[in-house]
Amino acid sequence: MPVNPLEWVRFESIASLNPLLDEALMVVDPQAWFVARSRLTANPRSLIRADSLDETALYTMETASDAWQGIKRVIGLGGGTAIDTAKYLAWRKELPLILVPSALTVDAPFTDSVAVRRAGRIHYIGHVYPEAIYVDGELIQTAPAHLNRGGVGDILSIHTALYDWKLAYERKGEAYDAEIARRSASLVERLTLNIRDVYAVNEAGIRLLTELFCEEVHLCYLAGSSRPEEGSEHHILYTLEYQTGRTYLHGAAVTLCALMAAYLQENDANALWAIAEACGVEYRAILDEVGDDALVNALVHARDYALEEQLPYTFLMETPITPQRAREAIQWLKAFRPLSARPRYGSHSSRWSPESGLN
Ligand SMILES: [Zn+2]
Repeated sequence: MPVNPLEWVRFESIASLNPLLDEALMVVDPQAWFVARSRLTANPRSLIRADSLDETALYTMETASDAWQGIKRVIGLGGGTAIDTAKYLAWRKELPLILVPSALTVDAPFTDSVAVRRAGRIHYIGHVYPEAIYVDGELIQTAPAHLNRGGVGDILSIHTALYDWKLAYERKGEAYDAEIARRSASLVERLTLNIRDVYAVNEAGIRLLTELFCEEVHLCYLAGSSRPEEGSEHHILYTLEYQTGRTYLHGAAVTLCALMAAYLQENDANALWAIAEACGVEYRAILDEVGDDALVNALVHARDYALEEQLPYTFLMETPITPQRAREAIQWLKAFRPLSARPRYGSHSSRWSPESGLN
């Protein structure tokens, strides 16, 4: 029976790790380490900085013999890259693994999949289970709030992923489990009912997001695939990252792609937008960073990328997304004002209209 990763979660201070550090190799992201080290009284035997999931970089770490002497455990501390690097190293070295997310930006600390990047493309190459996942609320609250708020991206993606899963069932006869789909959808509802806590990044919000990630991952285990959480929105993001050769802040970027996908699926996109906005996800920053042309390019070519990578069937396989349709989706999103900056009546901005919102 697949486990719920919540079993491994300890809502505890990372100070509990002190006795283990002398025999640990720690993979950290430097900013997280800067904050975390003041909360620790011991030093890890080896310290590695994570900055890329590129397979050759990971291989270099794995084979750096001086870093591995006396090491009995791998500890990953930081955001997605540090966590994924630690997972890879523990898997390759067959060592126990402890994960310490420094912000709840992505579901990676809770999934068993080992990811690497080969020639710019993400590949899942193995499975690894941690002995513990430390969710230290005080540590997490030291991260910029928008990082934690953005974590909801891997919950919002359920909305578009479930659409794709059902479509694959209807069109291709793919195995589909209505009960798992219902339970997955209920996670988005639970998020919606507790948005204030998520936005505030308070203790309840941190606990909620942790539980939602764990439940989402558990439902994927039960489904035997990532269908409940991953569909066209992730495929669009993978395409974008492949085409631009860059990686984007996962939660915010996947939110942006989920909004685009929901619009193109004609799947209650306005409702999804309202949740993303109320959670305070900074997907607009990703949109600005990426630029319209690169996003159009990704939307138009996501189908080819998915075919080349033999990704599961999604709405991308149906009517091809034309450049015009892609621009329409971007314009739909840009026509919204952020909730925090609603037009003030009587001022110049009261003349705001969807068209004038475009740039
Ligand atoms: Zn994701």
